Formats: sequence, C-alpha cells, structure tokens
Amino acid sequence: MGSKKLGANWTDFCWQGLELEVPADWELGAASGHHESGYIRLDDPDMVRLEMRWEKAKGKVTAKEVVDNHIKEAQKEVKRSKQSFKTKRDLSLVDLEGIDHECFSFDAEFQSFGMVRRCGECKRNTFVRVMYRKGDPIRPVVKRIFESLSDHPAGDGVKWRFFDFAFDSPASMTLKERTLKTGCLEMLFVRRKDEVEYARVSLASLQMKKKKLKEWFEEFYNKRLRAYRCSSQEEIFRGHKSLVYTGEARLLRPVTTLFRIRRDLWARVWWCEDSDKLFVFRVTAKTKQTPDYAKFVETIRCH
Ligand SMILES: [Zn+2]
Ligand SMILES: [Zn+2]
Repeated sequence: MGSKKLGANWTDFCWQGLELEVPADWELGAASGHHESGYIRLDDPDMVRLEMRWEKAKGKVTAKEVVDNHIKEAQKEVKRSKQSFKTKRDLSLVDLEGIDHECFSFDAEFQSFGMVRRCGECKRNTFVRVMYRKGDPIRPVVKRIFESLSDHPAGDGVKWRFFDFAFDSPASMTLKERTLKTGCLEMLFVRRKDEVEYARVSLASLQMKKKKLKEWFEEFYNKRLRAYRCSSQEEIFRGHKSLVYTGEARLLRPVTTLFRIRRDLWARVWWCEDSDKLFVFRVTAKTKQTPDYAKFVETIRCH
C-alpha cells in the first residue's frame, strides 16, 4: 500500500532549524533532544519513513568518518541480534557539490538510504535515513529529500512546520516545552525569562458553538493570564474574529519585585474559520523587547 502514490504530493517539514521536503503524508512520529543535538522520526500511515539525527560536529571529523562509525555501531548491534545487513557506500544519489556528505544504502530489517551531511557553517552533522519497501519508486524521492535538506536558518526566525502547523520562532530563543496532542499543539520558547508561545486548537467551530472567543481563551489560558492585569480588545485579523490582550505583571510580592524587571504580556487569539482552528500567540517579556517578539505572530500560517 502507499507505494504507487509515493511522492505525489510534497510538503515542507521544519524542526529546530532543519528544513526538508517530504511526501505530504509523512508526519512527525517522535521527537527528542534540542537545537544542538536531537532526533526526529516521520511515519506515514503504514510505516516508519524517515529518521533524522543531528549533532555538533567534533573537530575535523568528515562525513565519511561519521558513516564509518555508524556502520561499525550497526555491525555490533546486528551481531548481538543475530541479524544480517548489507551496505553500499559512497552512492551518487544526490547533487550536492561543495558540501561534505556521503550517501549509502543500508539494508537490514528495512531497506534504507542514508546520508550524512556536515555543515561547515553551523558545524552540525545531520544524518538522514529514508526507509522503503522493495518495489517502492524510492530513488527520486530520496534524491529530493536529501537535496532539499537545509540545516540552519537564514534570517532571524527559525522555521517550524509539522502537522501542517507552520510558524517561525525567534532565533534567539530555544524550545522549552512542547505539547503535541491530537487537537491541541503548544510550543513554548524561552530566552532567560522571556517567553513566546504558539498554540493551535482543532475543531474550532465546535468550541465556538459552546463559548464566545473571549470566554474560551480566558478559560484555556486561565493560569497563564493570572499573573497579569489584562485588558482585551476585539480586532479583525486576516479577516478573522480576533482578540488582542495586553497586560502588566501584577505586583504579588512588593518587596522582592522592587529589584525585578517588569514583564508585560501581549497575546493574540483568533478563530480561523477556513481551517476550523483556533490560534493563540503569547509573549511575556520585558516591555522594551515585547514588540520584537510580538511581530512573530505574523509568521503563523492559518489557512
Ligand atoms: Zn548548517
Ligand atoms: Zn485563517
């Protein structure tokens, strides 16, 4: 199943500054780690399709040496589990002139093509592996994926795109928490005590039948609003019903807060009827910095 339409529709997948094009039905199945080193896995409805690891490059280790090590490790693993595998090195699958990389095939329980790519600029090694079944027209798919990979952001925003949730996060911030539940995605980024949060909630029309946007948001964000004295204003945003919240931190402990830098809240919530989703964007930051972060609301794609 699935092999005939493999690669008919494509989308971008973006995570931690890594961007690549993948068939549209390959979606995030697992994620761990952080910006410097981490792992993600993409699955289609039938099987694991892609794995990607990234890490800080050690000294002058070349892509070839990284592949050597990987194969050595795999050999040990295979010996333990008494399976067998075949590998072919240095395949000319892609056209990536001037970039230190090596493509190889690795056939064990699954057939797969792998690539290690070493970036001289951000000094990261990226290891991508695409799994396939015998008979899948995989080569053009692998070529497109491997050639599309870019491993560091170009501007002041880091691109994210998964489950069709697409936005940029400020490059100065790092991902602190993520909640990836069916129907609710939340991503929290921090820089010291500054926070920027993105949320997307599905089945909006169902929620909006029961509650007004204001009521829904204040309930959804209850705890996160409590520390602020907020006021809200209705606005149309991209043709959608929207509310903007601005707030100042409440002075809970007057003595200790004397030395604390004041933080403000700025948030926008909107109901995108076209995609049947609710979007929330929140910034809490020093007054001076708030506008710099708030502009990132524009990067969230809603329909
Ligand atoms: Zn790079
Ligand atoms: Zn929209």
